[in-house]
Amino acid sequence: MEKLIFRFNNNGSLGKTESKDILGGKGANLAQMAKLKLPVPPGFTISTKVCDYFNKNNNKIPKKVIQQSKKEIQIIEKITKKKFGDLSNPLLVSVRSGAKVSMPGMMDTVLNLGLNDKTVIALKNKTSNGRFAKDSYRRFIQMYSNVVLGIEAHFFEELIDNYKLTKGVIQDTELDENDWDGLIKNFKDIVKEKTKKNFPQNVDEQLWGAISAVFLSWNSKRAKTYRKINYIPDHWGTAVNVQAMVFGNMGQDCATGVAFTRNPSTGKKELFGEYLINAQGEDVVAGTRTPQNILTMGKFMPKIFNQLKKIFKQLEIKYKNMQDIEFTVENNKLWMLQTRSGKRTSKAAIKIAVDMVKEKLITEKEAILRIDANMLDTLLHPTLDENAEKKIIASGLPASPGAASGKVTFSADEAERLKEQLQDTILVRVETSPEDINGMHAAKGILTARGGMTSHAAVVARGMGKPCVSGSGEIKINYEKKLFISGNFEIKEGDTITIDGGSGKVMLGEVPTVKPDISGDFSKIMIWADKYRKLKVRTNSETPTDTKTARDFGAEGIGLCRTEHMFFDEKRIVSVREMILSKTSEDRKKALSKLLPYQKSDFFEIFKIMNGLPVTVRLLDPPLHEFLPKTDKDINDIADELDISHSDIKSRIIELHEQNPMLGHRGCRLGISFPEIYQMQCQAIFEALADCKKKKIKLVIPEIMIPLVSTAAEIQILRNLVDETANKIQKSHSIKIKYYVGTMIELPRAALRAKDIAKYADFFSFGTNDLTQTTFGISRDDSGKFLNDYVENKIFNKDPFVSIDERGVGELIKIATERGRMQKKSLKLGICGEHGGDPTSVEFCEKAKLNYVSCSPYRVPIARLAAAQAYLKKKK
Ligand code: ADP
Ligand code: MG
Ligand code: MG
Repeated sequence: MEKLIFRFNNNGSLGKTESKDILGGKGANLAQMAKLKLPVPPGFTISTKVCDYFNKNNNKIPKKVIQQSKKEIQIIEKITKKKFGDLSNPLLVSVRSGAKVSMPGMMDTVLNLGLNDKTVIALKNKTSNGRFAKDSYRRFIQMYSNVVLGIEAHFFEELIDNYKLTKGVIQDTELDENDWDGLIKNFKDIVKEKTKKNFPQNVDEQLWGAISAVFLSWNSKRAKTYRKINYIPDHWGTAVNVQAMVFGNMGQDCATGVAFTRNPSTGKKELFGEYLINAQGEDVVAGTRTPQNILTMGKFMPKIFNQLKKIFKQLEIKYKNMQDIEFTVENNKLWMLQTRSGKRTSKAAIKIAVDMVKEKLITEKEAILRIDANMLDTLLHPTLDENAEKKIIASGLPASPGAASGKVTFSADEAERLKEQLQDTILVRVETSPEDINGMHAAKGILTARGGMTSHAAVVARGMGKPCVSGSGEIKINYEKKLFISGNFEIKEGDTITIDGGSGKVMLGEVPTVKPDISGDFSKIMIWADKYRKLKVRTNSETPTDTKTARDFGAEGIGLCRTEHMFFDEKRIVSVREMILSKTSEDRKKALSKLLPYQKSDFFEIFKIMNGLPVTVRLLDPPLHEFLPKTDKDINDIADELDISHSDIKSRIIELHEQNPMLGHRGCRLGISFPEIYQMQCQAIFEALADCKKKKIKLVIPEIMIPLVSTAAEIQILRNLVDETANKIQKSHSIKIKYYVGTMIELPRAALRAKDIAKYADFFSFGTNDLTQTTFGISRDDSGKFLNDYVENKIFNKDPFVSIDERGVGELIKIATERGRMQKKSLKLGICGEHGGDPTSVEFCEKAKLNYVSCSPYRVPIARLAAAQAYLKKKK
């Protein structure tokens, strides 16, 4: 019979990954800690499979699970010498959610379960601590009412706040037993009013109510949003952990805390964390009291502090990774409540990986596999310019590094709305909660008035790789008036501010930034990655600036140089328009001859920077209408230049209009109709090379790429044109130039006819943006309107324009690769387009045995790392 319940320390024969699938991360790690004989309160885990069953069977729990749970409760009773629901020595438990991967704060936990009007008295008598008993009961009512009965938390919080106000105290700890007694009565009244029932007194009803609520929370809106953003499958489900309570709120020799074994912001090997004396559970992260730095524990609880340090070491050796732990101290005894691999900034991820290789905890290969390639992005982007003028308006905790500027917005929805309009925002909140996830995702950075380094905002921002300044006590937010005040400054919604999550500073306006430092540990990881990867990494670039950036980031060539981008320059666009609007080939040649010197010097600059590395130059590709004059003034300028009338130009524009330009007169079809265009471009390429030779610059080998080919005949004709031009220039300059001619595979027919096409091509470059567009028949530019529906309805797992559709587009790539290489063994294969910098797609390219990927300059290091990871994963 399938096992659905697992006692901590007795998860039998479960393998490592299986264990997380079934027990969830929290349960698996509690079991692991118990096995290491660390102090873990006894308990058991109900399998994720039960969650799946529950959600598919009308919220029913299998009988077997109920029976076995009873037995497990008895085991806990034996160990703790307490009894669930007992009137003299009651056992209390926590009911904790825990999915396969951590989803911080997304699902629910109920503490102190097993308390009712009678057991609370027993607890008081047993501990001789009436305040503690009542404090625990009121917490239980609050949590249970919120999680299980669906009563909003603020009803209870407001009662506490008002009460404290009347009594004239600030901290919860200043309330005594009688105060809580009164509040408990009020709490129960709220429950009665909202649910028309009394607060449940039966402990079994409480237990199954809480367990069901945890299963239900898997499908809460915020959990679903979180899964969508993080690509977590809906069918995984959550496990439930039932565990004996230990108490951090019994007095001054009690505490609760969270800690990391290394600094999750910088990666430095030092204890990092916070704790609160005489507190329970979420108090530390909730921001109701300001927690103390974990290091002060050395003074206040030295024995526990040393024990913690020892345990940290043990956990790091076991998990070979930085751990994020939760603990509670009850009457000077330490209890471990959770451990997991800690979320960290990319900077910390790199430092920790490199340090752990030095410490011989992990190998180079493990270090490479450990870093989330996508997260490198945050390291590669600029940081604040030290020399720039800064008007600092507030400061807070440096919760997640990086700098960001944007318009101030006070709500998650507004941040999301502005993102759709491509506007940068900084989300400013008193504190964030899981409901703000979508807005945090949309914003460039997050600023909060309350909360520490382990607050929700801080943890989530670090996870997302976004700058965050938390706990900036100086700012006073007024949500109603949509502004915040800090000292003499009043900042309204829409005003631009800059935050620096590395220093915790908040500045007025947009502060300029500088290039990142990619030396040190970063370069070490890159060197390792280069050692273990097979795929080459090139860049998509057509400007000298981008080309230089990409080279600095380690690009090994240019995989896509889009010549049309060079046409938009102000000085050239007139000639470009002349060329397009020309009626005769003569006029067109005249216009082209004006463009030639520009193109030539563009290529010269790029070839110089690339210093002998391969450069793929794509001949003109987009539909010509993109270049057409739009304003009357533009039209008049062209009319003068070409010496024809304004209305003639207008009618020519109408003639050129296309219903479906992406499938229209573009790509090689232009080269077939107007060979002189491609001829000019080739002339520019070869003459630039001749110049390089004259100036003794190392010659690059150009790879001349003909776009949008679908038949062998097209490339045959256009290849001839390139060869003729090359011959002419080689002869006139009496030099020998090595070059390749190839094509982009971006139409399904081209993939299918790859064998014929390869006859005339030295290389293929998969233009996966267009190939995705033409394979699905979905326009890239219009898909925004319905893509979300497709993701929501699980038709698409991920946006196919972001991560390659392996089953369809990938199949075409495989076909083309196979058929192309059948014709020509030496055929060079690469991919260009957005997918080249997407780690999942890079992994596909490795599997598909391509030679290189090409991506935008800032993604080059990401692709280098992803390529190494892909290779190592394949070998595993
Ligand atoms: P989350 O997944 O949101 O972190 P947890 O299940 O870890 O939720 O519970 C939150 C906090 O509640 C824990 O950090 C711990 O402080 C407290 N807690 C949970 N179980 C127990 C327990 N058995 N005894 C004491 N405190 C507990
Ligand atoms: Mg936890
Ligand atoms: Mg294309």
